[in-house]
Amino acid sequence: EQEVAENRKSLAIRVSGFDVPRPVKTFEDCGFAPELMRAIAKQGYEKPTTIQCQALPIVLSGRDVIGIAKTGSGKTASFVLPMIVHIMDQPELQKEEGPIGVICAPTRELAHQIFLETKKFAKAYGIRTSAVYGGMSKLDQFKELKAGCEIVVATPGRLIDLLKMKALTMTRATYLVLDEADRMFDLGFEPQIRSIVGQIRPDRQTLLFSATMPRKVEKLAREILSDPIRVTVGEVG
Ligand code: ADP
Ligand code: MG
Repeated sequence: EQEVAENRKSLAIRVSGFDVPRPVKTFEDCGFAPELMRAIAKQGYEKPTTIQCQALPIVLSGRDVIGIAKTGSGKTASFVLPMIVHIMDQPELQKEEGPIGVICAPTRELAHQIFLETKKFAKAYGIRTSAVYGGMSKLDQFKELKAGCEIVVATPGRLIDLLKMKALTMTRATYLVLDEADRMFDLGFEPQIRSIVGQIRPDRQTLLFSATMPRKVEKLAREILSDPIRVTVGEVG
């Protein structure tokens, strides 16, 4: 325990919550399958970033996480890699329809970046990823979602539109990520986020990532996450 605490301190990692798994040092420590290890190596990722060292083992254990670390710290892979494992671990879900992993991001640029990062790792498994955001044809996105996918990366407004159009159902969604939660709030997406969360089964795994943690975001996190572990890296709020 003492050693784990010192290890965290040297990495500038702070955690709160009960039964927090210890940080990993390598991607091997995460127990990823060979295909995933190859995809990670192909990206040139030699070792996990600081947030990944602590967030990966927690997310892989199935716990809800609040991850706070500055931009550029590698938050995306902290939720994308365990999402691939989550999907592959649930063969019974694969018979149904609708996404298993749902990722919300504030802007089309961010959603697109997450989409690209996800595809790199999902491809090897034949996991289908769809991106839906404004500025692209809603009809095309409707058709793509109708064709089926395991992961959807979306801006909240467009996802709500497509849910209303019944382009997808959330019946098999069990892994929800709210990325850049502070910016989603700044952009006024709180009602859309609450609506999306309300359509996903409560026994889901929920992850919330943010560069800062304003009170409003903290309040939402308390309402929609279950016994979350909070991981903070560096000098952020
Ligand atoms: P954040 O979401 O925290 O702003 P990103 O997930 O976008 O950060 O990652 C920032 C950059 O770091 C990206 O270019 C990503 O490909 C790269 N990256 C992520 N994880 C690693 C890693 N373990 N090793 C090397 N580069 C990484
Ligand atoms: Mg990010």
